[in-house]
Amino acid sequence: MCGIVGYIGSKNCIPVILGGLKRLEYRGYDSAGVGVLLNGVSKIVKNKGKVSLLEKKLEADKIESTIGIGHTRWATHGEPNEINAHPHANQDGTLFLIHNGIIENYQTLKKQLRHEGYTFRSDTDSEVIIHLIESFMKKGNAFQKSVRLALSEVDGTYGLAIINSKEPDRIIAARKGSPLVIGVGEKENYIASDVSALIAHTKNIVYVEDGEIVEVYADKFVAKTILDEDIEKDVIEVSMTLEEIDKGGHPTFMIKEIMEQHESVFNSMRGRLIMDEGTAKLGGLDTVVDRLAASKRIVISACGTSWHAALVGEYMFEQFLRIPTEVEYASEFRYRNPIIQPDDTIIFISQSGETADTLAALREAKRKRALCLGVCNVVGSSVARESDAGVYIHAGPEIGVASTKAFTGQLVVLALITLLVARKRDLSLADGKKIVEEFNSIPDKIRKILELNDQIERIANDFKNAKNFLYLGRGYNFPVALEGALKLKEISYIHAEGYPAAEMKHGPIALVDENMPVVFIAPKDSTYDKIISNIEEIRARKGKIIAIANENDSEIDRLADYTVKIPETIRMLMPILTVIPLQLLAYHVAVKKGLNVDQPRNLAKSVTVE
Ligand code: GLU
Repeated sequence: MCGIVGYIGSKNCIPVILGGLKRLEYRGYDSAGVGVLLNGVSKIVKNKGKVSLLEKKLEADKIESTIGIGHTRWATHGEPNEINAHPHANQDGTLFLIHNGIIENYQTLKKQLRHEGYTFRSDTDSEVIIHLIESFMKKGNAFQKSVRLALSEVDGTYGLAIINSKEPDRIIAARKGSPLVIGVGEKENYIASDVSALIAHTKNIVYVEDGEIVEVYADKFVAKTILDEDIEKDVIEVSMTLEEIDKGGHPTFMIKEIMEQHESVFNSMRGRLIMDEGTAKLGGLDTVVDRLAASKRIVISACGTSWHAALVGEYMFEQFLRIPTEVEYASEFRYRNPIIQPDDTIIFISQSGETADTLAALREAKRKRALCLGVCNVVGSSVARESDAGVYIHAGPEIGVASTKAFTGQLVVLALITLLVARKRDLSLADGKKIVEEFNSIPDKIRKILELNDQIERIANDFKNAKNFLYLGRGYNFPVALEGALKLKEISYIHAEGYPAAEMKHGPIALVDENMPVVFIAPKDSTYDKIISNIEEIRARKGKIIAIANENDSEIDRLADYTVKIPETIRMLMPILTVIPLQLLAYHVAVKKGLNVDQPRNLAKSVTVE
């Protein structure tokens, strides 16, 4: 999920590109680069890491140019190093490109181009595009036509921009499957992955659609289809402020982050599943995966919402890896001289990667020579840097204090680790493939759940004045009950508790009366019949039942006062789906109470104190 920016006009493009890339860093920050023309000659500057490092490099070089393109990368093919950073240039550096997306047939094209004598500098899929364009140009085709011909040979997705030093009056941009907009200015034009990168300069935007290719000059732009048909594009004036754009048109960051989970979950999985081998590929674990698979014990240590993800991880690991797994609050773990053996693996989960307790627990575990893995969202954070290896969740920046998309991203990563290690242990190819297939269906299922937003808002309206809530679930959905209760507490300040559904009889049932809403997470799995009995027990005591159930479940309608019906999936992945209605419920209750959901009282996004 890279970010791209381009500028052509009369001012220096460097500050425009750097400013735009910083706004797009939510799309990835593995490496950054810019390519400009200096007196008709191309100059590419790139580096590993964030845009701020690129900025320092450019300051030192004192480059100024009126045409340029820039890229912030989230690597899909080839390590995040300087060579693989974009732009990528042709053999003599006269053509260079930035690309967001994946070229699925790059291996075939690479082979073909190598045959024609092209040499490749990077391991990226993107580089094939530039050589392919050059090969069409060498056969006598014009620049724009060569881009069209090249793009009709690639399979996959792209949002891209290309500069040709021999035609320095234009940038060519094209889109298929990755976002792309043109910003229209006064004798200057811009290109970007999204409007947020341009809004500081212009509000006049052209949305490029799939299959379109645009030649962007300083004073005009010419749009065609990839089949060379002329098209008229409307320039739309966007009225949003920067803050609203950051919120994607939503009233709060929290709802934006909830509503984008089909994408963030897709990004957490993207490029990490191998269908043919029924397994996962996690580059960050390559060097340690055998040690992980041979561990005698796994401990997962975390705080807050990440601790709930850890509990789901425990169920996953014990079901599929058959390795004893424990979950520890980082704050407790670090202070009680925990027993840690060198053949233990300890996984630390932290959205920010800066959580003080988790970091201290990690340092303690390292001292005791266990294999320490990090699962973080923020690239380059302390947990990521200090652990032996790890996996990023790539959910994009999470601004709302109550974690939502980071939680589902953490669940995805834990499931990917499970699949990878289970296939190294005793999971069959057929079973692995089934899991990969289910994984692939998750983003669409999330999209369906998000469509239930209005229904959940109505339920929230009926309960906004409740004083207490109970959340009950079994097995994989017990941690989801805890997370649902935590979400409600955090943002609506209503007292809520999560319990394993069967535990209810051992105490909490005493709280139930006609004023107590009880949320049951009741998908059709092996514990379904048991949970139905628990629902009956609450009904008998007049509690108000809100059930999260599967679409094909008609029995539950008879028992519950409210049902939210969601698609089915395998047990391991179910929490990714069941938590979403609970996030929405908490959100709407809090909004209806008039509370600030993005910055709830007494809380901070990342808890960097003990
Ligand atoms: N596939 C390209 C790369 O790995 C672009 C990645 C992306 O858009 O996420 O460099």
